[in-house]
Amino acid sequence: MTAPVVAPVPAPIPLNERLYRTEAVVLSRLDYGEADRILTVFTPQRGKLRLIAKGVRKPTSRLGPHLEYFTRCGLMLARGRDLDTVTGAETLDPHLGLRSDLDAFGHASHVAELLLRLTEDRQENGRAYELLVGSLRLFADGVDPFAVTRHFELNLLAALGYKPELYRCAGCEEPLAAVVNAFSPRLGGFLCPLCRTTDASAFPLSVTAQKYLRTLDRQGLAAVARLPVGDGLKTELEGALGGYLRHLTERELHSLRVWHALKDGAPAG
Ligand SMILES: [Zn+2]
Repeated sequence: MTAPVVAPVPAPIPLNERLYRTEAVVLSRLDYGEADRILTVFTPQRGKLRLIAKGVRKPTSRLGPHLEYFTRCGLMLARGRDLDTVTGAETLDPHLGLRSDLDAFGHASHVAELLLRLTEDRQENGRAYELLVGSLRLFADGVDPFAVTRHFELNLLAALGYKPELYRCAGCEEPLAAVVNAFSPRLGGFLCPLCRTTDASAFPLSVTAQKYLRTLDRQGLAAVARLPVGDGLKTELEGALGGYLRHLTERELHSLRVWHALKDGAPAG
């Protein structure tokens, strides 16, 4: 590679470098200015991106209909100083079934929230994208949103390198017996009855709840979608995965704050 020649006046970026195409799912939208919107989308190759869609709130906008919540779309984007700009959009899958089902829509919102909070801008994660698109399709098809969401959570944790340990004690590392073990969000796994006291914030999880998680891990979504899940079990499973995700989110947000402080405090240059 030869060193780039520095021109006295910045040359316009050629069209093929300024414009690029990507597939994306719209995770969040924020009205901006008179008729614009700032979107956060998730993409297969670029992870999470923040974009501006100009004039999109005008009734005549040709982009608007393709940029609804949870729409899987193809985008043409122009690189910008801060935010890239949407210059073209087409719908690949509107996930229509989601829009008429409040339960499914609520669970899809939770899935979007997890990606927004647990992933960083422009960090590629193809597995997380596949998981998102697959889960939205299942929500839209009317598959039990509880099972789809727990499947998404467990697999997103794995895709981000935080898979919980379901088979061995996080304290003594002995295989877990089929008894009530305590789940520790801080340790990302279970504590056996002997190690239970090492984390006061760990909470007991029934044998059935532990079995559900292991079945989901080993046999996948189809195996747990068939299981009868009562309200008590739902509460336990949401508590365990939700507690762990909350713990990570707080840690991630903290690490991002530290990173920003370092970045902003660093001398310009
Ligand atoms: Zn132990």
